[in-house]
Amino acid sequence: MAYRVTLIPGDGIGPEVTAAARRVAEATDVEFDWEVVEAGEKAIKQTGSPLPEAVFDSIRRNRLALKGPITTPIGGGFRSVNVALRQQLDLYASVRPARAIAGEGTRYPGTDLIVVREATEGLYSGVEHWVDRDHTAAETVNVITRKASDRIIKFAFELARRARRKHLTAVHKANIMKTTGALFQTAFREMAPKYPDILADERLIDNMCMQLAKKPSDYDMIVTTNLFGDILSDLTAGLAGGLGIAPGALYGESLAVFEPVHGSAPKYAGSDKADPVAEILCVELLLRHVGETEAADRIFRAVWETIAEKRVVTYDLALPGYTLTPVPPSSCSAMAAEIARKVPLVDLETPLPAPRASANGGDAQLEA
Ligand code: NAD
Repeated sequence: MAYRVTLIPGDGIGPEVTAAARRVAEATDVEFDWEVVEAGEKAIKQTGSPLPEAVFDSIRRNRLALKGPITTPIGGGFRSVNVALRQQLDLYASVRPARAIAGEGTRYPGTDLIVVREATEGLYSGVEHWVDRDHTAAETVNVITRKASDRIIKFAFELARRARRKHLTAVHKANIMKTTGALFQTAFREMAPKYPDILADERLIDNMCMQLAKKPSDYDMIVTTNLFGDILSDLTAGLAGGLGIAPGALYGESLAVFEPVHGSAPKYAGSDKADPVAEILCVELLLRHVGETEAADRIFRAVWETIAEKRVVTYDLALPGYTLTPVPPSSCSAMAAEIARKVPLVDLETPLPAPRASANGGDAQLEA
């Protein structure tokens, strides 16, 4: 039986990377029945709305979606489609694994972190206004509730158990934000004793950024509020090798939407240059979610081998500044074709080589 999946191509590089992901998905022996719906710029042209009702209807019906990035106008214009989708479908848990792949493009080849980000409230609640008519002062409200904090923290501990993780760090700023920060901190402190098998600790957001840059191998999983999770998951993507290889998943009670950490990268739109791996690994996460473990393993392995070979890789894994051993960059579609070609051929019996040893958590694999 085919899985019916809502496919949202999105803006900028979205159509290219979702086409790449679809190609790789179809190289597995799992059948997909894609329902393509538009959100973002194309939807505005077609319907007048960046987020038409048809998108919600399709995701609610199929309960599974693969999404490309969608552009949000900066400093004005319509509200973020991405934030609205999460809030209106109550996709409260944003899970962003940051895995180094074949040690490429990273100073930290052993990176294997998971960021769990609350995705429906916090500073992204959309409660903001100008204080005066002249727009010389403004306020954005940081909405933190005990219910949403308990829900995301419980989700993170449960995921830690399922993923056989041993260590969960709550990140907040409770020293300065005495109400919202303290509320999240208290929720974490009260939940932690229910999971005695997981080492639970806390860091302030500023210290966490420094710790991750210095020694990411000291950390395993992070749970945090919306804005901090948005920022930290770009940081952890950078530690693992860049936005081009960082997938993500959004979970609600019964819905799951898979989207990369990266945005629409407008400067690469239509140029067939973007790295398709993040969106391709979203298909891997989708397959794991529905229990198609072998197909998921095949995709990860095919990505890993393609990156390790460095014969057909996009600019972000090929060029000086990103890698110590530059090669001519390939296109997005060529890299996707190479990964798709490998999917049925990969040998899942042979274990992947261990990541290169990491001195003090960070190797000088790249020139500074
Ligand atoms: P971005 O993630 O689009 O780009 C940041 C940098 O990473 C750029 O240099 C870009 O070229 C590079 N990059 C991103 N994806 C890449 C890929 N697959 N391969 C190679 N390089 C890649 O972030 P931005 O420029 O801050 O945002 C652009 C737009 O995307 C904005 O409108 C923003 O609101 C939107 N956005 C959407 C989402 C989403 O849909 N979930 C997430 C983040 C940003």
